[in-house]
Amino acid sequence: MRVLLVSPDRKDVVEARSRGSPRLKAPFPPLSLLQVAALTPPEHQVTLVDEAVEDVDFGFPCDLAGITAFTSSAPRAYDIASGFCKRGIPVVIGGMHASACPEEALQHCDAVVVGEAEGVWERLVEDAWEGRLQRVYSSEDYADMRAVPAPRRDLLRRERYVLADTVQATRGCSHDCSFCSVAAFFGRRIRSRAPAAVAAEVRSLPGRLVAFVDDNITTVPSYARDLFERLIGAGKKWVGQASTAVLGNSELIGLAARSGCRALFVGLESLSDTALKRVNKGFNVVGTFKDTIKRLHDVGIGVIGSFMFGFDFEDEAVFERTTRFADEAHIDVPQYSILTPLPGTRLHAEMEAEGRIIDRDWSHYDGGHVVFAPRGTTPEKLENGLKAALKYSYSRVDILRRLFGVSARLPSMLAVNLAFRRRAIPWATRSGR
Ligand code: SF4
Repeated sequence: MRVLLVSPDRKDVVEARSRGSPRLKAPFPPLSLLQVAALTPPEHQVTLVDEAVEDVDFGFPCDLAGITAFTSSAPRAYDIASGFCKRGIPVVIGGMHASACPEEALQHCDAVVVGEAEGVWERLVEDAWEGRLQRVYSSEDYADMRAVPAPRRDLLRRERYVLADTVQATRGCSHDCSFCSVAAFFGRRIRSRAPAAVAAEVRSLPGRLVAFVDDNITTVPSYARDLFERLIGAGKKWVGQASTAVLGNSELIGLAARSGCRALFVGLESLSDTALKRVNKGFNVVGTFKDTIKRLHDVGIGVIGSFMFGFDFEDEAVFERTTRFADEAHIDVPQYSILTPLPGTRLHAEMEAEGRIIDRDWSHYDGGHVVFAPRGTTPEKLENGLKAALKYSYSRVDILRRLFGVSARLPSMLAVNLAFRRRAIPWATRSGR
């Protein structure tokens, strides 16, 4: 059987491209689909299409199409599903959005996978081959990470990605921030691969720079310590995500730096402790942010600091307050987005109950649009504030101001800022909502 796996882009991005927008390199490959490809029994032939780097060929000869989707790419996933359904090809949709909204996804395809693919994908392929595809495939338990097969990286067109070498060591997060879909999809129990296996995989990758896609690589400090020790001497540099909950641990941070860590994405979210507590992220303590960032900088780790706008307890001065903080703390790469009540999260349920969801076009659930009624401001002002913050922080002057004094990190962090500027400024200067 010929199996086609598709990672759709956002619909507006595909439409812009059809109007002549240039296709840029994608930041990362879709590792989850490479893992699904690895689960496919070897007698079947797998082809992978990542729409971020190549077009979907609707005439592609295949016997089964599997599509994954986040919420913002769900409308495009449904278009692609419809294209293949019209040809009579069985179509399956999985991923975070279909897991949160299986009934909706089923209106566009033959079957959905709810939850992780491990433990169900092999059965689904078998059923498709035998012509007895069921409507819903749901994993009974979370996957044992020690048994997850190595991703099919042979399917990748490496040259089309900024960072082609991605690795996953753990799944799940022990925290339960109300806006985040990680705990809902992967659970709060941390499941990990053996540190020795992860270190061996990192060493085997062709590139010098590796990205850990774990939502929180430091969530179990003893595990992180073991992994980092095994990476020392591997000759690799790596980037990943971590929460402030453990970044007060100087010993762990020093070890991360010695193991090759060059930048960490940290979800700071807000400069209001009240807002942070409201979304169950009270372990982020605003008064410690600058010390945490300095601690990372002192060992040579750059900070990709993420903030969201639209929390209930914030006023319209939030944009200036946040960009000024990014300057003062010398955040290497500030990331700003709009708070988004993704389906399946507690935040979505709360806003739904309060009657505050004002936009149900999933393609707007991308962090760039306001899809709920904010308190104390209007959707227009919120979106314009986001654009103003991006324009300020990614002006050439501010990039240099923030990066002033970073010495050894300057070339790499400047390159990341300029790459981000290439995407952010055209979007932020676009008129209208
Ligand atoms: S936002 Fe980060 S810390 Fe919070 S639940 Fe999600 S992954 Fe965990």
